[in-house]
Amino acid sequence: MKKIKHFHSLSFKLTIWYILILAMIITLSGFFLYQGYKDKLTDELDKLLFEIADETYEAWRKKRGVSWQEAIQKIETKYSSFPLYIQVVELTEEKPLQIRNFIRSPRIPPGCLQLKPHLYRKADKTDLNDLIHLEVDDKRLCSFPLRTLLIPVRGPRILQVSLSTEERNKALNELILVMGGAGLLLLVLASAGGSLIISKALHPVSKVIKTAKKITADDLSLRIETKERSDEIGALVETFNEMIARLERSVKKIKQFSGDVSHELRTPLTIIRGEVEVSLRKDRKKEEYIQTMQSVLEEVGRMERIINDLLLLSRLEMMESSQLQENIDLSTIASEAISLRKEEASKKGLIIEADLPAPLFLTGHPELLMRLVINLLDNALRYTPSGGKIALEVKREGNNIKLQISDTGIGIPEKDLPFIFDRFYVVDPSRSKETGGVGLGLAIVKWIADLHQAQIQVESKLNQGTTFIISFPQQKNRNDEK
Ligand code: ADP
Repeated sequence: MKKIKHFHSLSFKLTIWYILILAMIITLSGFFLYQGYKDKLTDELDKLLFEIADETYEAWRKKRGVSWQEAIQKIETKYSSFPLYIQVVELTEEKPLQIRNFIRSPRIPPGCLQLKPHLYRKADKTDLNDLIHLEVDDKRLCSFPLRTLLIPVRGPRILQVSLSTEERNKALNELILVMGGAGLLLLVLASAGGSLIISKALHPVSKVIKTAKKITADDLSLRIETKERSDEIGALVETFNEMIARLERSVKKIKQFSGDVSHELRTPLTIIRGEVEVSLRKDRKKEEYIQTMQSVLEEVGRMERIINDLLLLSRLEMMESSQLQENIDLSTIASEAISLRKEEASKKGLIIEADLPAPLFLTGHPELLMRLVINLLDNALRYTPSGGKIALEVKREGNNIKLQISDTGIGIPEKDLPFIFDRFYVVDPSRSKETGGVGLGLAIVKWIADLHQAQIQVESKLNQGTTFIISFPQQKNRNDEK
């Protein structure tokens, strides 16, 4: 049996899928968590920016004569612990827009916070509900990354307040580290757990494979333990066990059948060899040779019958009901069978009575149906002593067409009834030997009946007689047409 490579195994593939999906979920949740935290920190920063801008404006507006320079210095002193830059940008009325002056403290590095003129123009047109916030990340000019607020004030002037985002970015970077570590740990733990659960769930499948490998045609007695599982694996194991049981029964039947066949064929061969050896031991008269030859011929005929019956049985085993296409009148078949056996019956002193009404059609195979009737009729002829009566009837009963063959013969013991349709089953070997039966006739009848989806019933009383009833499903509307 093919060995499954680890990379191709179901448990490996499931584990990989599980890890991928888990990693995706962890990454997505991490992303949303990061984004939410960043928004919250930025909001706080924006609030502080607005507060500072408001205080600066108020410091300039309230005290008359205070210049922007002084107001800025006052606020910068108040917030000296913050990495804070404040400046006021004076705009001209000219077009294109010009920046007239930057009022700011000298501690702001030169070039830092000088935005593109159109941004100031845009800020000049905004109201308090729609202020402009900018992230300025130019460390070369400003030493650290900044978040900037632009507010239009009287002038036209723009009050520009910037705070360092370094603290916020640091907090966010720490969050990434913590989340990354925790996510990775979670992924490793969950993957290990998941892989353990998957391999545990699939363990019975490996047991099925192991047991299946041990099963050979010689040992079909092995079964896989189910431990009362009610899940899909349990159902699979149960189905597998049932399949093995069916296989075991079939192999047993095949073995018994081939044993029976060789035994049945060996018997006539032994008789032939014995007869020929005896007659060759010394010179014999012509009549004695003729007698030997006749006996040999009889045994050859017996072998021929066995082989023909076996060939027919194997042909029947290959056939399916769907192959039956013809509409056949069972009454005609029965009357033809009677004509074929009329002479033999009168020789044995037997009467055949027939009750065959109007044509009764069914879908079937004409030769096989003829064979079924002949086999039943032959048995009745074989096992009914001289002076007896055989009755053959074909009738319609409900949706079925029934063939009934009764005789007043020796009957079949009740204990043998369940087995008479088995191959090579003979009720009494000595009486079958006398009549030339080998135990295949009824097996053929059963196969033909099954092929036609017909039911067989047997009623028998010792020394009183036997009745076989075969119920065929009638072909719809066919008899009404006739
Ligand atoms: P055989 O070829 O030996 O007749 P069958 O398969 O036709 O084998 O029948 C199986 C056994 O059933 C026979 O050995 C016979 O003893 C018994 N049997 C079948 N039909 C009848 C019958 N009509 N009356 C009495 N016994 C019968």
